[in-house]
Amino acid sequence: TESLLSAIEGADALNAYVHKTPEIALDQAKAADARIQAGDAPDMCGIPMGIKDLFCTKGVPSQAASRILEGFKPEYESTVTTKLFDAGTVMLGKLNMDEFAMGSSNETSCYGDAVNPWRRGNDDALLTPGGSSGGSAAAVAADLCLAATGTDTGGSIRQPAAFTGITGIKPTYGRCSRWGIVAFASSLDQAGPMTKDVRDAAIVLEAMCGQDAKDSTSADLPVPNFEAMLTGDIRGKVIGIPKEYRLDGMPAEIEKLWADGIAMLKAAGAEIRDISLPHTKYALPTYYVIAPAEASSNLARYDGVRYGHRAKLAQGDGITEMYEKTRAEGFGHEVQRRVMVGTYVLSAGFYDAYYNRARKVRTLIKKDFEDVFAAGVDAILTPATPSAAFGLGEMTEADPVQMYLNDVFTVTVNLAGLPGISVPTGVDAQGLPLGLQLIGRPWEEGDLLNTAYALE
Ligand code: GLN
Repeated sequence: TESLLSAIEGADALNAYVHKTPEIALDQAKAADARIQAGDAPDMCGIPMGIKDLFCTKGVPSQAASRILEGFKPEYESTVTTKLFDAGTVMLGKLNMDEFAMGSSNETSCYGDAVNPWRRGNDDALLTPGGSSGGSAAAVAADLCLAATGTDTGGSIRQPAAFTGITGIKPTYGRCSRWGIVAFASSLDQAGPMTKDVRDAAIVLEAMCGQDAKDSTSADLPVPNFEAMLTGDIRGKVIGIPKEYRLDGMPAEIEKLWADGIAMLKAAGAEIRDISLPHTKYALPTYYVIAPAEASSNLARYDGVRYGHRAKLAQGDGITEMYEKTRAEGFGHEVQRRVMVGTYVLSAGFYDAYYNRARKVRTLIKKDFEDVFAAGVDAILTPATPSAAFGLGEMTEADPVQMYLNDVFTVTVNLAGLPGISVPTGVDAQGLPLGLQLIGRPWEEGDLLNTAYALE
Protein backbone atom coordinates (compact mmCIF):
# COMPACT_ATOMS: atom_id res chain seq x y z
CA THR A 1 0.00 0.00 0.00
CA GLU A 2 2.77 2.43 0.88
CA SER A 3 4.68 1.83 -2.32
CA LEU A 4 1.54 2.25 -4.43
CA LEU A 5 0.63 5.45 -2.59
CA SER A 6 4.01 6.90 -3.47
CA ALA A 7 3.76 5.66 -7.07
CA ILE A 8 0.39 7.45 -7.31
CA GLU A 9 1.99 10.68 -6.06
CA GLY A 10 4.46 10.49 -8.93
CA ALA A 11 1.87 9.77 -11.59
CA ASP A 12 -0.38 12.84 -11.60
CA ALA A 13 0.25 13.24 -15.34
CA LEU A 14 -2.01 10.25 -16.01
CA ASN A 15 -4.86 11.90 -14.10
CA ALA A 16 -6.09 8.43 -13.12
CA TYR A 17 -6.94 9.24 -9.49
CA VAL A 18 -9.35 12.11 -8.97
CA HIS A 19 -9.45 11.72 -5.22
CA LYS A 20 -6.70 10.04 -3.22
CA THR A 21 -7.48 8.40 0.11
CA PRO A 22 -4.09 7.64 1.71
CA GLU A 23 -5.35 7.80 5.32
CA ILE A 24 -8.13 5.34 4.63
CA ALA A 25 -5.71 3.12 2.72
CA LEU A 26 -3.18 3.00 5.54
CA ASP A 27 -5.86 2.29 8.15
CA GLN A 28 -7.33 -0.49 6.01
CA ALA A 29 -3.85 -1.90 5.36
CA LYS A 30 -3.13 -2.02 9.10
CA ALA A 31 -6.41 -3.76 9.73
CA ALA A 32 -5.60 -6.22 6.95
CA ASP A 33 -2.18 -6.91 8.51
CA ALA A 34 -3.90 -7.71 11.79
CA ARG A 35 -6.30 -10.12 10.06
CA ILE A 36 -3.45 -11.82 8.27
CA GLN A 37 -1.58 -12.23 11.56
CA ALA A 38 -4.70 -13.61 13.19
CA GLY A 39 -4.96 -16.17 10.39
CA ASP A 40 -8.29 -14.76 9.14
CA ALA A 41 -7.30 -13.57 5.68
CA PRO A 42 -9.51 -13.97 2.60
CA ASP A 43 -7.75 -13.75 -0.78
CA MET A 44 -8.43 -10.03 -1.11
CA CYS A 45 -7.09 -9.16 2.34
CA GLY A 46 -4.61 -6.28 2.07
CA ILE A 47 -4.95 -5.96 -1.72
CA PRO A 48 -4.79 -2.26 -2.70
CA MET A 49 -7.43 -1.27 -5.23
CA GLY A 50 -8.66 1.86 -6.95
CA ILE A 51 -12.40 2.52 -7.03
CA LYS A 52 -14.19 4.10 -9.98
CA ASP A 53 -15.77 7.43 -9.01
CA LEU A 54 -19.20 6.00 -9.93
CA PHE A 55 -19.25 3.95 -6.70
CA CYS A 56 -20.59 5.70 -3.61
CA THR A 57 -17.98 5.47 -0.89
CA LYS A 58 -19.01 6.59 2.56
CA GLY A 59 -17.62 9.98 3.58
CA VAL A 60 -15.44 10.13 0.46
CA PRO A 61 -16.23 12.36 -2.53
CA SER A 62 -18.22 10.37 -5.10
CA GLN A 63 -18.99 12.59 -8.05
CA ALA A 64 -19.36 10.30 -11.05
CA ALA A 65 -16.88 12.79 -12.56
CA SER A 66 -19.68 15.36 -12.78
CA ARG A 67 -19.78 18.96 -11.61
CA ILE A 68 -23.37 18.44 -10.55
CA LEU A 69 -22.22 16.19 -7.71
CA GLU A 70 -19.63 18.68 -6.46
CA GLY A 71 -19.21 18.32 -2.72
CA PHE A 72 -21.30 15.13 -2.54
CA LYS A 73 -20.01 12.73 0.10
CA PRO A 74 -22.38 9.78 0.45
CA GLU A 75 -23.52 8.71 3.88
CA TYR A 76 -23.53 5.12 2.69
CA GLU A 77 -21.22 2.63 1.04
CA SER A 78 -22.08 0.79 -2.19
CA THR A 79 -22.67 -2.94 -1.81
CA VAL A 80 -19.74 -3.82 -4.08
CA THR A 81 -17.26 -1.69 -2.12
CA THR A 82 -18.73 -2.95 1.17
CA LYS A 83 -18.05 -6.51 0.01
CA LEU A 84 -14.53 -5.63 -1.07
CA PHE A 85 -13.78 -3.88 2.22
CA ASP A 86 -15.26 -6.77 4.23
CA ALA A 87 -12.85 -9.02 2.35
CA GLY A 88 -9.97 -6.82 3.51
CA THR A 89 -9.41 -4.79 0.33
CA VAL A 90 -7.60 -1.47 0.68
CA MET A 91 -8.93 1.64 -1.16
CA LEU A 92 -6.19 3.87 -2.58
CA GLY A 93 -8.59 6.43 -3.99
CA LYS A 94 -11.32 7.24 -6.50
CA LEU A 95 -10.65 6.85 -10.20
CA ASN A 96 -11.36 9.08 -13.16
CA MET A 97 -14.12 8.22 -15.64
CA ASP A 98 -16.41 9.77 -18.21
CA GLU A 99 -19.12 11.92 -16.64
CA PHE A 100 -21.89 9.59 -15.42
CA ALA A 101 -20.08 6.83 -17.36
CA MET A 102 -21.17 8.33 -20.68
CA GLY A 103 -18.33 8.11 -23.13
CA SER A 104 -15.64 5.92 -24.62
CA SER A 105 -12.54 8.05 -24.06
CA ASN A 106 -12.69 9.54 -20.55
CA GLU A 107 -12.85 12.97 -22.22
CA THR A 108 -16.22 13.92 -20.73
CA SER A 109 -14.92 13.93 -17.14
CA CYS A 110 -15.22 17.13 -15.10
CA TYR A 111 -11.70 16.32 -13.89
CA GLY A 112 -10.20 16.36 -17.38
CA ASP A 113 -8.91 13.51 -19.49
CA ALA A 114 -7.31 10.42 -18.01
CA VAL A 115 -4.22 9.45 -20.01
CA ASN A 116 -3.25 6.06 -21.36
CA PRO A 117 0.23 5.06 -20.10
CA TRP A 118 0.94 3.58 -23.57
CA ARG A 119 2.36 5.57 -26.51
CA ARG A 120 2.35 4.91 -30.26
CA GLY A 121 5.91 3.83 -31.07
CA ASN A 122 8.18 6.84 -30.46
CA ASP A 123 5.35 9.32 -30.80
CA ASP A 124 4.73 11.43 -27.66
CA ALA A 125 1.08 12.14 -28.51
CA LEU A 126 -1.18 11.33 -25.59
CA LEU A 127 -3.71 8.56 -26.12
CA THR A 128 -7.04 7.84 -24.49
CA PRO A 129 -7.20 4.97 -22.01
CA GLY A 130 -10.74 4.42 -23.30
CA GLY A 131 -13.90 4.95 -21.34
CA SER A 132 -15.87 5.24 -19.40
CA SER A 133 -13.64 3.40 -16.88
CA GLY A 134 -10.56 5.21 -18.23
CA GLY A 135 -9.02 6.04 -14.86
CA SER A 136 -9.44 2.43 -13.71
CA ALA A 137 -7.72 1.14 -16.85
CA ALA A 138 -4.87 3.66 -16.70
CA ALA A 139 -4.28 2.96 -12.99
CA VAL A 140 -4.10 -0.83 -13.44
CA ALA A 141 -1.95 -0.57 -16.58
CA ALA A 142 0.48 1.88 -14.94
CA ASP A 143 0.79 -0.18 -11.72
CA LEU A 144 -0.97 2.41 -9.58
CA CYS A 145 -3.12 -0.30 -7.94
CA LEU A 146 -3.32 -4.07 -8.14
CA ALA A 147 -6.88 -4.01 -9.43
CA ALA A 148 -9.73 -1.56 -9.91
CA THR A 149 -13.48 -1.59 -10.01
CA GLY A 150 -15.16 -0.65 -13.25
CA THR A 151 -18.72 -0.48 -14.50
CA ASP A 152 -19.98 -1.45 -17.92
CA THR A 153 -23.22 -0.25 -19.51
CA GLY A 154 -22.16 -0.62 -23.13
CA GLY A 155 -18.50 -1.57 -22.95
CA SER A 156 -16.97 0.65 -20.29
CA ILE A 157 -14.97 -2.15 -18.68
CA ARG A 158 -14.03 -4.10 -21.82
CA GLN A 159 -13.05 -1.25 -24.18
CA PRO A 160 -10.68 0.54 -21.75
CA ALA A 161 -9.20 -2.84 -20.77
CA ALA A 162 -8.45 -3.50 -24.46
CA PHE A 163 -6.95 -0.02 -24.94
CA THR A 164 -4.54 -0.42 -22.02
CA GLY A 165 -3.51 -4.08 -22.25
CA ILE A 166 -5.35 -5.31 -19.18
CA THR A 167 -8.20 -7.74 -18.46
CA GLY A 168 -11.76 -6.66 -17.68
CA ILE A 169 -14.92 -8.69 -17.16
CA LYS A 170 -18.52 -7.55 -17.19
CA PRO A 171 -20.46 -10.29 -15.43
CA THR A 172 -24.01 -11.39 -16.21
CA TYR A 173 -26.59 -8.67 -15.47
CA GLY A 174 -27.60 -9.32 -11.86
CA ARG A 175 -24.32 -10.86 -10.69
CA CYS A 176 -23.19 -7.72 -8.85
CA SER A 177 -25.44 -5.50 -6.83
CA ARG A 178 -25.97 -2.07 -8.37
CA TRP A 179 -26.86 -0.58 -4.98
CA GLY A 180 -24.79 2.53 -4.30
CA ILE A 181 -23.47 2.75 -7.85
CA VAL A 182 -24.60 5.99 -9.49
CA ALA A 183 -27.20 4.86 -12.04
CA PHE A 184 -26.69 5.49 -15.77
CA ALA A 185 -28.95 2.97 -17.58
CA SER A 186 -30.28 0.63 -14.92
CA SER A 187 -31.21 -2.27 -17.20
CA LEU A 188 -27.69 -2.36 -18.65
CA ASP A 189 -25.33 -1.28 -15.82
CA GLN A 190 -23.08 -3.88 -14.21
CA ALA A 191 -19.96 -3.61 -12.07
CA GLY A 192 -16.89 -5.75 -12.66
CA PRO A 193 -13.17 -5.96 -12.01
CA MET A 194 -10.32 -4.58 -14.11
CA THR A 195 -7.12 -6.47 -13.46
CA LYS A 196 -3.72 -7.42 -14.80
CA ASP A 197 -4.74 -10.94 -15.76
CA VAL A 198 -7.54 -13.48 -15.81
CA ARG A 199 -6.65 -15.08 -12.46
CA ASP A 200 -6.88 -11.71 -10.70
CA ALA A 201 -10.19 -11.06 -12.47
CA ALA A 202 -11.56 -14.36 -11.11
CA ILE A 203 -10.47 -13.55 -7.56
CA VAL A 204 -11.73 -9.95 -7.53
CA LEU A 205 -15.03 -10.81 -9.25
CA GLU A 206 -15.79 -13.42 -6.61
CA ALA A 207 -15.28 -10.80 -3.90
CA MET A 208 -17.53 -8.26 -5.69
CA CYS A 209 -20.59 -10.28 -6.61
CA GLY A 210 -23.51 -11.95 -4.90
CA GLN A 211 -27.16 -11.40 -4.13
CA ASP A 212 -28.16 -8.23 -2.30
CA ALA A 213 -31.54 -7.45 -0.77
CA LYS A 214 -31.01 -3.79 -1.70
CA ASP A 215 -31.00 -4.53 -5.45
CA SER A 216 -34.01 -6.51 -6.61
CA THR A 217 -32.27 -7.31 -9.91
CA SER A 218 -29.32 -9.00 -8.19
CA ALA A 219 -29.59 -12.74 -8.64
CA ASP A 220 -30.17 -15.19 -5.84
CA LEU A 221 -27.48 -17.59 -7.01
CA PRO A 222 -24.47 -18.98 -5.19
CA VAL A 223 -21.14 -17.33 -6.07
CA PRO A 224 -18.75 -19.98 -7.35
CA ASN A 225 -15.05 -20.12 -6.59
CA PHE A 226 -14.09 -18.74 -10.00
CA GLU A 227 -10.37 -19.15 -9.47
CA ALA A 228 -10.76 -22.89 -8.86
CA MET A 229 -12.36 -23.14 -12.32
CA LEU A 230 -9.20 -21.93 -14.07
CA THR A 231 -7.89 -25.26 -15.30
CA GLY A 232 -6.96 -24.05 -18.77
CA ASP A 233 -8.69 -27.16 -20.13
CA ILE A 234 -11.09 -26.13 -22.89
CA ARG A 235 -11.04 -29.36 -24.91
CA GLY A 236 -14.37 -29.95 -26.62
CA LYS A 237 -15.71 -26.46 -25.91
CA VAL A 238 -17.54 -24.93 -28.85
CA ILE A 239 -16.43 -21.41 -29.72
CA GLY A 240 -18.71 -19.42 -32.03
CA ILE A 241 -17.31 -16.91 -34.53
CA PRO A 242 -20.11 -14.51 -35.53
CA LYS A 243 -19.91 -13.38 -39.14
CA GLU A 244 -21.73 -10.11 -38.42
CA TYR A 245 -18.74 -8.90 -36.37
CA ARG A 246 -16.52 -9.00 -39.46
CA LEU A 247 -16.97 -5.33 -40.31
CA ASP A 248 -16.19 -3.79 -43.68
CA GLY A 249 -12.99 -1.83 -43.46
CA MET A 250 -11.87 -3.43 -40.22
CA PRO A 251 -8.11 -2.83 -39.80
CA ALA A 252 -5.98 -5.79 -40.92
CA GLU A 253 -4.36 -6.01 -37.51
CA ILE A 254 -7.74 -6.56 -35.86
CA GLU A 255 -8.48 -9.30 -38.41
CA LYS A 256 -5.14 -10.89 -37.59
CA LEU A 257 -5.68 -10.60 -33.84
CA TRP A 258 -8.99 -12.40 -34.23
CA ALA A 259 -7.50 -15.11 -36.48
CA ASP A 260 -4.66 -15.64 -33.99
CA GLY A 261 -7.17 -15.98 -31.14
CA ILE A 262 -9.16 -18.53 -33.12
CA ALA A 263 -5.97 -20.51 -33.80
CA MET A 264 -5.01 -20.44 -30.13
CA LEU A 265 -8.36 -21.76 -28.95
CA LYS A 266 -8.32 -24.43 -31.65
CA ALA A 267 -4.82 -25.50 -30.62
CA ALA A 268 -6.10 -25.80 -27.05
CA GLY A 269 -8.69 -28.32 -28.22
CA ALA A 270 -11.78 -26.16 -28.75
CA GLU A 271 -14.11 -26.66 -31.68
CA ILE A 272 -14.47 -23.51 -33.78
CA ARG A 273 -17.88 -22.93 -35.34
CA ASP A 274 -19.09 -20.17 -37.69
CA ILE A 275 -22.28 -18.65 -36.32
CA SER A 276 -24.71 -15.88 -37.16
CA LEU A 277 -26.18 -13.25 -34.83
CA PRO A 278 -28.44 -11.64 -37.42
CA HIS A 279 -29.65 -8.62 -35.44
CA THR A 280 -26.16 -7.37 -34.59
CA LYS A 281 -26.44 -4.44 -36.98
CA TYR A 282 -29.26 -2.97 -34.92
CA ALA A 283 -27.37 -3.12 -31.64
CA LEU A 284 -25.75 0.32 -31.67
CA PRO A 285 -28.92 2.25 -32.59
CA THR A 286 -30.90 0.19 -30.07
CA TYR A 287 -28.36 0.88 -27.34
CA TYR A 288 -28.25 4.60 -28.15
CA VAL A 289 -32.04 4.79 -27.69
CA ILE A 290 -32.37 2.65 -24.55
CA ALA A 291 -29.33 3.95 -22.66
CA PRO A 292 -30.20 7.67 -23.06
CA ALA A 293 -33.87 6.93 -22.26
CA GLU A 294 -32.96 5.33 -18.96
CA ALA A 295 -30.31 7.98 -18.30
CA SER A 296 -32.75 10.86 -18.79
CA SER A 297 -34.99 9.28 -16.19
CA ASN A 298 -32.18 8.43 -13.75
CA LEU A 299 -30.62 11.88 -14.01
CA ALA A 300 -33.87 13.69 -13.21
CA ARG A 301 -32.88 13.46 -9.55
CA TYR A 302 -30.09 16.04 -10.01
CA ASP A 303 -32.27 19.03 -9.39
CA GLY A 304 -30.08 21.33 -7.34
CA VAL A 305 -31.89 20.31 -4.16
CA ARG A 306 -31.04 16.77 -3.29
CA TYR A 307 -27.38 16.51 -4.25
CA GLY A 308 -24.25 18.52 -4.85
CA HIS A 309 -24.18 21.64 -6.96
CA ARG A 310 -26.80 24.40 -7.06
CA ALA A 311 -26.44 27.37 -9.41
CA LYS A 312 -26.38 30.91 -8.03
CA LEU A 313 -29.79 32.36 -8.60
CA ALA A 314 -30.83 35.87 -9.51
CA GLN A 315 -33.44 37.93 -7.73
CA GLY A 316 -36.86 36.70 -8.80
CA ASP A 317 -35.69 33.26 -10.02
CA GLY A 318 -38.15 30.52 -9.21
CA ILE A 319 -37.80 26.77 -8.98
CA THR A 320 -37.79 26.32 -12.78
CA GLU A 321 -34.84 28.70 -13.16
CA MET A 322 -33.11 26.88 -10.33
CA TYR A 323 -33.46 23.54 -12.13
CA GLU A 324 -32.47 24.98 -15.49
CA LYS A 325 -29.44 26.90 -14.33
CA THR A 326 -28.21 24.11 -12.08
CA ARG A 327 -28.51 21.45 -14.76
CA ALA A 328 -27.02 23.70 -17.45
CA GLU A 329 -23.98 24.36 -15.27
CA GLY A 330 -23.72 20.97 -13.65
CA PHE A 331 -23.99 18.64 -16.65
CA GLY A 332 -21.39 18.50 -19.41
CA HIS A 333 -22.29 18.46 -23.10
CA GLU A 334 -22.43 14.71 -23.59
CA VAL A 335 -24.68 14.25 -20.56
CA GLN A 336 -26.97 17.02 -21.80
CA ARG A 337 -27.11 15.38 -25.23
CA ARG A 338 -28.11 12.05 -23.65
CA VAL A 339 -30.79 13.67 -21.48
CA MET A 340 -32.24 15.40 -24.54
CA VAL A 341 -32.17 12.26 -26.71
CA GLY A 342 -33.63 10.21 -23.87
CA THR A 343 -36.42 12.69 -23.17
CA TYR A 344 -37.25 12.82 -26.86
CA VAL A 345 -37.50 9.04 -27.35
CA LEU A 346 -39.66 8.74 -24.23
CA SER A 347 -41.99 11.59 -25.12
CA ALA A 348 -45.64 10.73 -25.79
CA GLY A 349 -45.48 11.24 -29.56
CA PHE A 350 -42.28 9.24 -30.12
CA TYR A 351 -42.37 6.56 -27.43
CA ASP A 352 -43.68 3.82 -29.71
CA ALA A 353 -41.56 4.75 -32.69
CA TYR A 354 -38.27 4.82 -30.77
CA TYR A 355 -38.26 3.50 -27.23
CA ASN A 356 -40.77 0.68 -27.65
CA ARG A 357 -39.26 -0.28 -31.00
CA ALA A 358 -35.80 -0.40 -29.42
CA ARG A 359 -37.09 -2.65 -26.64
CA LYS A 360 -38.47 -5.08 -29.20
CA VAL A 361 -35.23 -5.14 -31.16
CA ARG A 362 -33.36 -5.68 -27.89
CA THR A 363 -35.39 -8.86 -27.40
CA LEU A 364 -34.39 -10.05 -30.87
CA ILE A 365 -30.72 -9.35 -30.16
CA LYS A 366 -31.00 -11.36 -26.95
CA LYS A 367 -32.72 -14.18 -28.81
CA ASP A 368 -29.87 -14.34 -31.35
CA PHE A 369 -27.58 -15.27 -28.48
CA GLU A 370 -30.06 -17.69 -26.90
CA ASP A 371 -30.33 -19.51 -30.23
CA VAL A 372 -26.60 -20.03 -30.66
CA PHE A 373 -26.16 -21.12 -27.05
CA ALA A 374 -29.08 -23.53 -27.44
CA ALA A 375 -27.33 -24.95 -30.51
CA GLY A 376 -24.37 -25.90 -28.36
CA VAL A 377 -22.05 -22.89 -28.53
CA ASP A 378 -20.23 -22.35 -25.21
CA ALA A 379 -18.63 -18.98 -25.88
CA ILE A 380 -18.34 -16.43 -28.68
CA LEU A 381 -15.04 -14.86 -29.72
CA THR A 382 -14.91 -11.35 -31.24
CA PRO A 383 -12.54 -8.40 -31.23
CA ALA A 384 -13.10 -6.14 -28.20
CA THR A 385 -12.73 -2.88 -30.14
CA PRO A 386 -12.55 -1.90 -33.80
CA SER A 387 -9.11 -0.26 -33.30
CA ALA A 388 -6.30 0.35 -30.83
CA ALA A 389 -6.42 3.38 -28.49
CA PHE A 390 -6.94 6.64 -30.37
CA GLY A 391 -5.41 10.02 -29.58
CA LEU A 392 -6.90 12.37 -27.01
CA GLY A 393 -8.80 15.05 -28.92
CA GLU A 394 -8.80 12.95 -32.08
CA MET A 395 -12.56 12.40 -32.04
CA THR A 396 -14.44 15.63 -31.89
CA GLU A 397 -17.70 16.59 -30.34
CA ALA A 398 -18.81 17.74 -33.77
CA ASP A 399 -19.57 14.11 -34.55
CA PRO A 400 -20.60 12.18 -31.45
CA VAL A 401 -21.63 9.18 -33.56
CA GLN A 402 -17.96 8.57 -34.43
CA MET A 403 -17.34 8.00 -30.73
CA TYR A 404 -20.42 5.78 -30.40
CA LEU A 405 -19.07 3.51 -33.15
CA ASN A 406 -16.33 2.44 -30.76
CA ASP A 407 -18.89 0.41 -28.86
CA VAL A 408 -19.92 -1.68 -31.86
CA PHE A 409 -18.59 -4.99 -30.44
CA THR A 410 -19.51 -4.44 -26.80
CA VAL A 411 -23.09 -3.11 -26.57
CA THR A 412 -24.76 -6.35 -27.71
CA VAL A 413 -23.54 -8.05 -24.54
CA ASN A 414 -25.22 -5.48 -22.27
CA LEU A 415 -28.44 -5.53 -24.29
CA ALA A 416 -28.55 -9.32 -23.86
CA GLY A 417 -27.41 -9.21 -20.20
CA LEU A 418 -24.57 -11.66 -20.89
CA PRO A 419 -21.11 -11.92 -19.34
CA GLY A 420 -18.27 -10.60 -21.50
CA ILE A 421 -14.54 -10.42 -20.93
CA SER A 422 -11.77 -8.55 -22.73
CA VAL A 423 -8.33 -10.14 -22.71
CA PRO A 424 -5.15 -8.54 -24.08
CA THR A 425 -3.85 -10.86 -26.78
CA GLY A 426 -1.73 -8.77 -29.14
CA VAL A 427 -0.32 -5.43 -30.23
CA ASP A 428 -0.73 -3.30 -33.33
CA ALA A 429 2.07 -2.19 -35.66
CA GLN A 430 2.98 0.64 -33.29
CA GLY A 431 3.10 -1.55 -30.23
CA LEU A 432 -0.28 -0.59 -28.79
CA PRO A 433 -2.24 -3.30 -26.98
CA LEU A 434 -5.25 -4.97 -28.60
CA GLY A 435 -7.86 -7.14 -26.93
CA LEU A 436 -10.22 -9.94 -27.82
CA GLN A 437 -13.67 -10.34 -26.32
CA LEU A 438 -15.25 -13.59 -25.19
CA ILE A 439 -18.99 -13.67 -24.58
CA GLY A 440 -20.41 -16.42 -22.39
CA ARG A 441 -23.65 -18.05 -21.36
CA PRO A 442 -25.57 -16.32 -18.57
CA TRP A 443 -24.21 -17.10 -15.08
CA GLU A 444 -21.27 -19.04 -16.49
CA GLU A 445 -18.55 -16.54 -15.69
CA GLY A 446 -16.38 -19.38 -14.34
CA ASP A 447 -16.42 -21.14 -17.68
CA LEU A 448 -15.89 -17.86 -19.50
CA LEU A 449 -12.90 -16.97 -17.32
CA ASN A 450 -11.45 -20.41 -17.98
CA THR A 451 -11.75 -19.95 -21.76
CA ALA A 452 -10.15 -16.50 -21.40
CA TYR A 453 -7.40 -18.11 -19.35
CA ALA A 454 -6.60 -20.37 -22.31
CA LEU A 455 -6.25 -17.24 -24.50
CA GLU A 456 -3.79 -15.27 -22.37
N1 GLN B 1 -19.47 4.18 -24.46
C1 GLN B 1 -20.79 3.79 -24.06
C2 GLN B 1 -21.62 5.00 -23.75
O1 GLN B 1 -21.12 6.09 -23.79
C3 GLN B 1 -20.72 2.85 -22.92
C4 GLN B 1 -20.47 3.48 -21.63
C5 GLN B 1 -20.51 2.53 -20.48
O2 GLN B 1 -20.41 1.32 -20.65
N2 GLN B 1 -20.69 3.08 -19.29
O3 GLN B 1 -22.78 4.90 -23.46
